[in-house]
Amino acid sequence: MNRGFTAEIDLNAVSHNLKVIKDISRNLPLIAVVKADAYGHGAVEISGRLIRDGVEYLAVAFTGEAEELRDAGINTPIVVLFDPDVEDIFKYSLIPVISDKKTAVVLSKEAERRNTALNVHLKIDTGMGRLGLTGDPVKEILEIAGMRGISIEGVMSHFSEADIKDESFARMQIASFNSVRKELLQKGLQIRLFHIANSAAVEALPESHFDAVRPGIMLYGYSPIERREAIIAHRLLPVMTVKAKILALRRLPAGTPISYGRTFVTKRESLIGVMAAGYADGLSRRLSNNAEVIVGGRRVPVVGRVCMDLTMIDLTGIEHVEEGDDAVIIGKNGNESIDAAELARRADTIPYEILTSIGYRAKKVYY
Ligand SMILES: *Cc1c(COP(=O)(O)O)cnc(C)c1O
Repeated sequence: MNRGFTAEIDLNAVSHNLKVIKDISRNLPLIAVVKADAYGHGAVEISGRLIRDGVEYLAVAFTGEAEELRDAGINTPIVVLFDPDVEDIFKYSLIPVISDKKTAVVLSKEAERRNTALNVHLKIDTGMGRLGLTGDPVKEILEIAGMRGISIEGVMSHFSEADIKDESFARMQIASFNSVRKELLQKGLQIRLFHIANSAAVEALPESHFDAVRPGIMLYGYSPIERREAIIAHRLLPVMTVKAKILALRRLPAGTPISYGRTFVTKRESLIGVMAAGYADGLSRRLSNNAEVIVGGRRVPVVGRVCMDLTMIDLTGIEHVEEGDDAVIIGKNGNESIDAAELARRADTIPYEILTSIGYRAKKVYY
């Protein structure tokens, strides 16, 4: 029996968010980022919906993730952002992102051996300091372009701030990307897709859209830009609702310590609910005495430390609550709503981490 820790995934919300993105990016081709199991939402189901709605490309982090999509019957072009595993690239017809010349050499040899041409995207490092060609990227790209069996379909880069707090650094990255782009086009290279825009740039930097956009978090209903949340976020719909079952209800006298370390002590006779979800389910321990959930349309506080499998909530004064009822951890209930951005602020992290850590573990239900 499932103990009732569920993530409900609203696929119509995905469609809605996709429309918002298509609208902002003037219908440019979209490389939908579904890495990390679609940010915890389930890559196969999310990709299925995105493809139904006309998405041109999917992007995953590793070839293993692409394999899962191919095995599920998905034939859409898939860009593999990080690991160009040679066997899998050819076996599953994937588009590798190449970040150095030696990988290009290996892939070129294999393409020649198989008597085929491999579509690749090249990555240049414009300030992220993670992966990508550095030094003289134009020279290296020209060398790679000359390799047999390699066809450069795209050139990409990545912003160093997912929330673009410092627009001037992002603009420097765009300028450096654009100068490489111009030089390559001048030299007559036929490269169809220059792309750098993650969600934040889709939202805030139209000059970064180039030939395609590459959003992730927006598809799942969140704006990475906190200060602009009021502008775009209200147009996006959070896709994931998270619920846990109330396993037990206990009426306890004033002065009762709750959970490990006795960090909370009841101040009055209290009705304490024990939820069947804890940090092993992705509820950060940082939410101890520092979060709310919604029960019967009302916000109630988490009390005491979050345990591995259980978390206590204070239900004193809530009417008609019964064992087996749901507590909403992320989502709407009555007039109240809690989103991953709220939990992220409380846990001192970002919605990305909240969604992936909970989404990976919860039983997912699609509607
Ligand atoms: C994760 C990722 C994205 C998507 O970023 P969001 O902030 O979720 O839009 C785009 N490009 C690369 C290379 C990434 O790793």
